[in-house]
Amino acid sequence: MQRMLIRNATVLSMDPATGDFRDADILIEGSAIAAVRPHIAAEAATVIDGQGMIAVPGFVDTHRHTWQSLLRNTAADWSLPQYFAGIRGVMGAQYTADDMYVANYLGALEALDSGITTLYDWSHNNNTPEHADAAVQGLRDAGIRAVFGYGNANREWFPPSALPTDLDDLARVRRQHFNSDDSLLTMAFAARGPQFTSLDITEHEFRTVRGLGLRITVHVGDGLWGTSNPIGQLQSRGLLRDDTTYVHCCTLQDSEFQLIAETGGTASIAAEVELNMGHGNPATLSLLKYGCRPSISIDVCCSVGGDMFGQMRLLLAATRGVANAEALQQRRLIDPLPVNTRDILEFATVQGAKACGLARKTGSLTPGKQADIVLLDAGALNMFPINNPVGAVVNDAHPGNVDTVVVAGRIMKRHGKLLHADVRALRQRVERACDGLFERAGVRRDGTWLPQPYVRGIA
Ligand SMILES: [Zn+2]
Repeated sequence: MQRMLIRNATVLSMDPATGDFRDADILIEGSAIAAVRPHIAAEAATVIDGQGMIAVPGFVDTHRHTWQSLLRNTAADWSLPQYFAGIRGVMGAQYTADDMYVANYLGALEALDSGITTLYDWSHNNNTPEHADAAVQGLRDAGIRAVFGYGNANREWFPPSALPTDLDDLARVRRQHFNSDDSLLTMAFAARGPQFTSLDITEHEFRTVRGLGLRITVHVGDGLWGTSNPIGQLQSRGLLRDDTTYVHCCTLQDSEFQLIAETGGTASIAAEVELNMGHGNPATLSLLKYGCRPSISIDVCCSVGGDMFGQMRLLLAATRGVANAEALQQRRLIDPLPVNTRDILEFATVQGAKACGLARKTGSLTPGKQADIVLLDAGALNMFPINNPVGAVVNDAHPGNVDTVVVAGRIMKRHGKLLHADVRALRQRVERACDGLFERAGVRRDGTWLPQPYVRGIA
């Protein structure tokens, strides 16, 4: 079996049993981590000098609408109701299958380049079977570990929608692309849930996809759309299980957080989108209060950046901001702070893997798990001196510090360069696809397009 050895790195394993090291080696055999400790005496075909590097588990983004990578910054100044109008009402229907491919390939490469080794592709623009096939192919060609969250066609996303999901096509995608749950790509169901469709349709879909062995994620508690007691509604049909990830959760009630925790659900917070677009404050403290440790996601990459560093920093500040504002209001001091940088790094790795159903495979540098590893250059001007490695990763690092990325033992990025991608050719293809999209949509491509808000379906 092919061996690779990373020597003399500062290691943040994010696994308490393995521990952290100021100076240790990581031995990789085939696709898996074989050992993490100082002074490993082993011969290896590939040796990577980890001196001056911080090794962390590859980040896990638990919810990204990757197909929107072609629409970067189209929604930079839009609220959530404007997003519904502009992305759903105009752009989604304009996508060709080839656009889905290019967008997913671009978005997955961007993720890899910034150290995200597992991407939950929340794919909700599968307007034809060919769109879904192309989206899967884009992920596959990028070489990333991904969960393809099959999530409906554009036309089925206008709340409140009475249109059913094409469950025959979902079953076909399962058969055709995901007959094993042990590959780099796995499949899940990205459900509309009670905020976007009826509870009857939701129940039928939840029960059907569980019969196919698929996990579920669903948006709940986003802005005014999320105040309809969505978790209570799911509970009324007995649909809450530990195979489900709840995205956003900003405007849920206490009783709903309790139900999520009691039924073993997981959560995904997209702090940047939530703060910018009006979903509400990130629900970190409410989730933690009931014992649910959240994961982190990028969400609509048509309005926010696509790397995990920005999300970690925003989530830390936003969560502390909520607690600090409350304390100020009550004229008291906070000590200790309610979350620390290690919590945030755990959310971005360990909890992300758990939310994807991949906790046994990835999320920490644990012997036996897959070798999904990121080396950050601590010799960069924004990084040294390293007085607190976890703080450096969460508060200081950016994608430009990502020196090396390994996915399942395969080196995807080395010395700051992606190894398996022709970025220049990709850019030409992306520009052509964007020209076509904006032309067909009949809207300007200069940041001045502001759609009329879509307000139906508000609770
Ligand atoms: Zn979303």
